[in-house]
Amino acid sequence: MPMADAPIVEARGLTKTFMVGHAGGVSPLHALDDVDFDVMAGETLGLVGESGSGKSTAGRILVGLIPATAGSVSLFGHCITGRDGSAALRAVRSRLQFVFQDPFAALNPRMRVGRSVAEPLEIAGKLSRRDRNDRVAELFELVGLPKGSTDRYPHEFSGGQRQRIVIARSLALNPDFIVCDEPVSALDVSMQAQIVNLLMDLQQRLGLTYLFIAHDLAVVRIISTRVAVLYAGSIVETAPKHDIYARPQHPYTKALLDAVPRPDPAFVRARAISGEVPSLLDPPPGCRFHPRCPLVMDRCRAEAPKLLSSGKDRQVACHLFEAAR
Ligand code: SF4
Repeated sequence: MPMADAPIVEARGLTKTFMVGHAGGVSPLHALDDVDFDVMAGETLGLVGESGSGKSTAGRILVGLIPATAGSVSLFGHCITGRDGSAALRAVRSRLQFVFQDPFAALNPRMRVGRSVAEPLEIAGKLSRRDRNDRVAELFELVGLPKGSTDRYPHEFSGGQRQRIVIARSLALNPDFIVCDEPVSALDVSMQAQIVNLLMDLQQRLGLTYLFIAHDLAVVRIISTRVAVLYAGSIVETAPKHDIYARPQHPYTKALLDAVPRPDPAFVRARAISGEVPSLLDPPPGCRFHPRCPLVMDRCRAEAPKLLSSGKDRQVACHLFEAAR
């Protein structure tokens, strides 16, 4: 589907700090730090990073599930983080959806699945019971669920079918933008491919826009139009999919890609990136990647690099590229 020129999501200076209790008192955990990104209509922005990088936090802020500590989010031209953010969020709420990682946890085990899918329609109060039932049947067909299965309970379905039910529910109110938070990571590999294909097919048919959050770069490569790489709460690189996989620029992106298994017996998989993701309670000064970076320089330990243009439609946050500009 062709992309429109205007972003439907604009995040600027997005910052999220959680206050975390521990034996010594309460400390700030810097989950997101001054993050900027756009999502264009009709595209899939893949948001990747290791566990604890802040990618799920970013997704939850975008759909209003949690508030930002600082910065702004504009959805369809409505700022949902300003003084009138609550009213703006209400105005666009039906155009947003969120698909969670674990479909079993996302469904009420005691509720028939047809009722779960109908719930958003009931809450919106727009359709008669009969029209709701017709819409649910239509949604089941759209996501490839067996006809006549609306009266069953979640435990009667496979993991892949349960994720299809969750996707059907997310489509009930005809959204424009869906945040998919690790939607296939709880599934086995064959199911993963089916759900990714379903999401791509739905995007074509319904004109959807996705933020696709994942730690698995192989999956992101299939579904994304562009990719943004998060490390310890900061975006370190953004680029069109083909560029980032063919010519990664940031040392962290390169290390992530080197760690992806390849179907080539001659390829020896690189070891996982050495070192640990830093604690967001006490992130390292300067570039947050510097304790793990093979190319670290003195400057990196003192000064955080800015996310700056590094080519057509590309941005990278690394002092090595500042020198080359
Ligand atoms: Fe490595 Fe320095 Fe670039 Fe950070 S700024 S990624 S430490 S070279």
